[in-house]
Amino acid sequence: LYDQQRQNILEFNEELLSSKGRIRVVCRIRPQPEATHKTILVNDDYKVLLFDPHRSLQSPEKNKKKSYIEYTFMKVFEEDSKQVDLFNDLNFFLNSFFQCSNVSIFTYGPTGSGKTFTMFGEIKNQKQKGIIPRCLEQLCQKIEEYEANGIFNEVNVSIVELYNDKIKDLIQNANIQERKEPSLSKLPQGLEFKQKLQFLLQQIISATKNRIVRKTNCNQHSSRSHLVFTIKLKLFDKIQNKINEGQLHLVDLAGSERIQLSQTTGEGQKETIFINQSLQALSAVLKSIKNNVIHIPYRNSLLTQYLRNSLNSNSKTMVILNISSHPTYYSQTKEALNLLCLKQQQYITRSQHQTPSSFEKSERNKELTQTNQQQTNT
Ligand code: ADP
Ligand code: MG
Repeated sequence: LYDQQRQNILEFNEELLSSKGRIRVVCRIRPQPEATHKTILVNDDYKVLLFDPHRSLQSPEKNKKKSYIEYTFMKVFEEDSKQVDLFNDLNFFLNSFFQCSNVSIFTYGPTGSGKTFTMFGEIKNQKQKGIIPRCLEQLCQKIEEYEANGIFNEVNVSIVELYNDKIKDLIQNANIQERKEPSLSKLPQGLEFKQKLQFLLQQIISATKNRIVRKTNCNQHSSRSHLVFTIKLKLFDKIQNKINEGQLHLVDLAGSERIQLSQTTGEGQKETIFINQSLQALSAVLKSIKNNVIHIPYRNSLLTQYLRNSLNSNSKTMVILNISSHPTYYSQTKEALNLLCLKQQQYITRSQHQTPSSFEKSERNKELTQTNQQQTNT
């Protein structure tokens, strides 16, 4: 059964990496060196196991069975994964964009799970820089290539924040007039990109400082807004005498935790309702695209309306689910996993008093490792 499941996933991944692939969902687990015990184990490249810390605290007796939920993704990045590993995984999507496809890449997850770290990271640190600075570097190289080949190009970069149904241009630090139906044609003009990478990176650092943060019980500076970083590319095709256009949206979503947890009131509650609505709308849109539904429900949120030109059956979407293995995050982590995984399955371990860490060394895991090795060898 296990081999069959694995085979299905491999086929699914293959389909994704072919031109048919439109939505890719991967999971990244942030390091939590300070956690005394962890709720998450990674079974293999595609599976995350989630253990309920409350059950183990409430029922430490040896004879209580321990259960866990297994979640399947297209790829799982473990705690020791590097920024460059994540970036390499989206190579295919980035190359599509360089050929003028519309692409959106999201980081999704509770506050503190590593979304901003994954998207931005430490912008000027060679190892710790995230997806956005890496994409810009690749873009610089690509522009040189276009120019060497006589392809006339125009590139624009904009950064906006979506907050409580308002759009703010973070580069200008000014609200864009509220519109009922925002679309890409109404995006801020943005900065023209002429290979001044250092200047641009500095602008990004300043722009992100204009983002709204609010204190909640979950985190000191939880991000309460969605940040959309957009690169617009225009290439002039001399032979066919036409202009090709593509957009790449890199979206650092607001924290996915629910209102009961953050216990916000007043303005904070309004924010949380806005966030919940927009995340639900996004997941509904992604499901519709995946299931080839003709009517895609964009109108349910500003986020989906803003991104609609790049969220459809002709565009490519990648979602990075960021989670943490710290026990305090358990319920938010479970909620996020339930929403975005490809498949979930409940298990009860054979041995009655295994802990996640002892389970890691269990026979079943050894078997899996052997199967993996056999498959790699063949
Ligand atoms: P979020 O944007 O989801 O609220 P952050 O990206 O701000 O979360 O991450 C919270 C903290 O954890 C930050 O201090 C960040 O530097 C750290 N962090 C997150 N992911 C990683 C990682 N993979 N490696 C090292 N530090 C990380
Ligand atoms: Mg953040």
